[in-house]
Amino acid sequence: MQKGVILSLVFPASILSTQTLDGVVSYFLLFRAKFDKVTMVLRILTYNEIKTKREGIFVMNKINLKSLLYLIIVPFLFAENPPSEKLKLMAVEKVDSQSKLIQEMVDMIFSFGELGFQEIETSNYLIGILEQNGFKVTRGISGIPTAWMAEWGKGKPVIALGSDIDGIPKSSQMPGVAYHKPIIKGAPGHGEGHNSGQAVIVAAAIAMKEIMINEKIKGTLKIWPGVAEELVATKAYFVRDGYFKDVDACIFTHVSSNLAVTHGQAGGNGLLSVEYSFEGKTAHSAGSPWRGKSALDAVELMNIGWNFRREHLRPPYRIHYIITDGGDQPNVVPRNASVWYYLRELDYEHIMELFDYSNDIAEGAAKMSGTELISTRILGSAWPRYFNEPIARAMYTNIKEVGLPVWDKNDQALAKAVQKEAGNKEIKGLPTELDSLRGPVSSKNNWGGGSDDIGDISWTVPTVTLRFPSNIPGLPGHNWLNGISMATPIAHKGAVAGAKVTAMTLVDLFTDKGLLKDAKKYFKNQTKETKYQPMIRKTDKPAIELNEEIMRNYRDEMKKYYYDPSKYDTYLDQLGITYPTIKKK
Ligand SMILES: [Zn+2]
Repeated sequence: MQKGVILSLVFPASILSTQTLDGVVSYFLLFRAKFDKVTMVLRILTYNEIKTKREGIFVMNKINLKSLLYLIIVPFLFAENPPSEKLKLMAVEKVDSQSKLIQEMVDMIFSFGELGFQEIETSNYLIGILEQNGFKVTRGISGIPTAWMAEWGKGKPVIALGSDIDGIPKSSQMPGVAYHKPIIKGAPGHGEGHNSGQAVIVAAAIAMKEIMINEKIKGTLKIWPGVAEELVATKAYFVRDGYFKDVDACIFTHVSSNLAVTHGQAGGNGLLSVEYSFEGKTAHSAGSPWRGKSALDAVELMNIGWNFRREHLRPPYRIHYIITDGGDQPNVVPRNASVWYYLRELDYEHIMELFDYSNDIAEGAAKMSGTELISTRILGSAWPRYFNEPIARAMYTNIKEVGLPVWDKNDQALAKAVQKEAGNKEIKGLPTELDSLRGPVSSKNNWGGGSDDIGDISWTVPTVTLRFPSNIPGLPGHNWLNGISMATPIAHKGAVAGAKVTAMTLVDLFTDKGLLKDAKKYFKNQTKETKYQPMIRKTDKPAIELNEEIMRNYRDEMKKYYYDPSKYDTYLDQLGITYPTIKKK
């Protein structure tokens, strides 16, 4: 077929009759805006021709006339500004080409298994990868040694990408093994799956960076880590210290068992994390107990106070505590004692109300025990989460294009064995259908639950959380069971799918000005009545010493199990694990 014939199928004959092909092209380049409708129709026609394989690899399914038209004409029309669909195909290819890097990152961070504020190896490793890829990294932001802000590009828009990096105490577990088998007994591990999210955003950012260079797209990419998310202890500081001031939108990613995004008020709670410390007087516990004042008594009385108060709170609250200092030995009346509370509720006002009750109870406990309340230290905080609808809708379109990974029989066998081990009634394995796009959870239907300090960022800039399928559904959370899949093909495939969706959504954010405009309009509406105010006080500082002692106890032993990709293809190979290992030997 001749070019003229093809062109005449789409464009008026009057243009063709008076212009050469080059003339036509420059005509359209000059007056492209006028032909938005024509190109829109073309884009829609051709987009329907692009089928997605279940693995998320795009293929041209059949070449017919419309596809030919697309291939020949559109590149001319969009010589300076290719359509986002073409860029999304590139993004997907570029993520696929990084699947080895994704696997290595997921496995490496799994093997570090570091707890919040002590993510030293994890941060150094990630910063190394980012610097190798041309990102400028500012280390130690907000006075947090393991935090950073990585930046690439220039000017607006500024899109930030974040994901958590910390582990869970006592969740050390051999990956791919469907029963309790710690790598090191009692050690921390990735019993939440925070080892996978940075691979998702780093691969997506590298893909987008290359596209921006090739296509001369302006803008800035930022990458930051969710340090100590389990302690909800850093993101409010990033916000307070202005690290999101120039950011136009934020994509956050979190491990899950499906590929999903939500918008509006999310389920779950916000929280305030507070440690109360009391001081009394030591004395011989047997010889002269009447001369002592027990700080531990104050802690116990405080807990009793709260456990009675619970009855009179509205249902969505969650309150839990641990005693961080209960004295030294029984024969010495404890001079010092501390108790650490998480106070969770649906919104800022109710969380602060719990804080007021808590302070009253603490003072009452001090009075009853004759001790002094010497400190009320805020260790962390999280606003309830609220996600941006326009970005979530754009992301969900990309989720449908990418689809869930193709699970093989080994993946399903592991998932089912783990669900059985967890004592679940329903043994469903891994999902094969996408979740729907879910909207706001009204406070009437929100029965409370977990928290994430991404909430603070979601009230500062338009934000969404992409959940990606690297874990097994139906598990208790914060448990060794949740670590089993996290350095296996399930985690690797889930992270690749997540990276594709993230990269495609970056294409949307950098090329579709209407999307950012809509996102900002939505955000303005979101913050019209509810104004963000930090729960951390001006004098509060990140509790960077937390988990130091635990890591000091285990690190030397854990080092022996760090993943070495120069010797082993995967971490499973290094540990000599047959995938999956199901029956106890
Ligand atoms: Zn988490």
